Amino acid sequence: MSVNISAFFYLLSALCFIMALRGLSSAATSKNGNLFGMVGMGIAIATTLFSPVVGHYFPILAMIAAGGLVGIFIAKKIKMTALPQLVAGFHSLVGLAAVCVAFAAYLDPTAYGIGIKGHIRTMSLFEMSLGAAIGAITFSGSLIAFGKLQGLISGKPLVFEGQHKLNAVLGSVLVLSILLFTLTGHLTFLYLLTFIAFALGFLMILPIGGADMPVVVSMLNSYSGWAAAGIGFTLSNNLLIITGALVGASGAILSYIMCKGMNRSIMNVILGGFGTDVSATAISNGGQSHDRPVKVSSSEDAAFILSNASSVIIVPGYGMAVAQAQHALREMVDILKTKGIKIRYAIHPVAGRMPGHMNVLLAEANVPYEDVLELDEINSDFGTTDVAFVIGANDITNPAAKTDKSSPIYGMPVLDVERAKTVLFIKRSLASGYSGVDNDLFYRDHTFMVLGDAKKVCDAIIKET
Ligand code: NDP
Repeated sequence: MSVNISAFFYLLSALCFIMALRGLSSAATSKNGNLFGMVGMGIAIATTLFSPVVGHYFPILAMIAAGGLVGIFIAKKIKMTALPQLVAGFHSLVGLAAVCVAFAAYLDPTAYGIGIKGHIRTMSLFEMSLGAAIGAITFSGSLIAFGKLQGLISGKPLVFEGQHKLNAVLGSVLVLSILLFTLTGHLTFLYLLTFIAFALGFLMILPIGGADMPVVVSMLNSYSGWAAAGIGFTLSNNLLIITGALVGASGAILSYIMCKGMNRSIMNVILGGFGTDVSATAISNGGQSHDRPVKVSSSEDAAFILSNASSVIIVPGYGMAVAQAQHALREMVDILKTKGIKIRYAIHPVAGRMPGHMNVLLAEANVPYEDVLELDEINSDFGTTDVAFVIGANDITNPAAKTDKSSPIYGMPVLDVERAKTVLFIKRSLASGYSGVDNDLFYRDHTFMVLGDAKKVCDAIIKET
């Protein structure tokens, strides 16, 4: 395949990726978005295979087959609730690939058309060092994010004295080694910068609390994109540059949106040690709060309250995903709608364990898109709503985020469910949510706790309605 034809197909594939991102921006068009992504990737792989520089097909096809099989196996096995750690795990591989490509290009520059051994172009050395550094940070950082989300490492921020200073020193040495490698082309500096970047990835993510992991995963997603773009420059591969930039930019925008959703700055996330006081706060609050009176209701009571309401807002959270209650919930809503009750769903930007988690589950249960509203669109309506039906959600409703300046979640925008006339909480206990912060709403006069698995409670309400 000639260079011009390759360039044309790479451009086509880049267009598909742009269309994929556009499609994935809303639940209604996400299937098409996925399809565009798959077609784009298919074109990219085929174009690369037909390019004249590819001499040996067997190793490439064998690797694609092996990787594809592992991918299919993981995709079939993984639970919806474990997707964030899967994404983190995959990002770590992208980072490691960037490091490997940088080393391969250094060791065999002729194969990459960037000079000869010992005389690699300065610009290529710079691109290579950037790819290796960002790739190494992405690799080790994603491993920590994976470990925290999977519960292999404590979700609490692991902070120690002088940690910011150490990171600053390591950051400066990293910049210096990139500079020295670019100027001298010496392998020692490539080793040094890669090693420091690995260490920085660990040290930067360890102090970040579990509650901030969504932002971290998205930030590392962005890094993996920039690492790929850097390697794209080394390989003179326009598609890799465009795709890497798309991933880098979209990951950065998503991190920004999530930070906005939590009312935090990205620097605060990285440097903040968010959640340091979580356990202390939760324990102290919890100790006091659990002695307070709580109104526990049955599913019959819940069915009665819902049937007599004229408007209901459903607030789904992580527990709905765990219980896989979305189908039963939709069935329950369908029955209530036949009684003329106005029912809508309120989606918090960080509900569940990954961005868009609730939208995906509700779409899977065929909930009409027009019934599903974002926090900004629906928050002011709670005050005029009869029932807030909170199913498996906790942190995203916690008023402490608005009122308690000492709370680790202070400043995070939350759904104003307490403004509804009645609040029904469907969860198994009075336990706290992901942030570990107790929720004062459970003990309010107009709150009724319906304790049980979210799916079982919905099934029971269906029977009683
Ligand atoms: P939370 O984790 O705050 O609360 C979920 C609640 O669901 C728990 O309190 C739990 O209570 C309940 N629950 C668990 N299993 C079941 C079940 N089978 N049936 C009924 N209830 C159940 O979730 P939210 O969605 O409210 O908030 C999301 C949190 O996760 C935020 O803190 C956010 O920062 C964080 N996060 C978000 C990510 C994202 O991108 N969306 C990614 C990673 C973290 P009980 O045990 O009593 O049943």
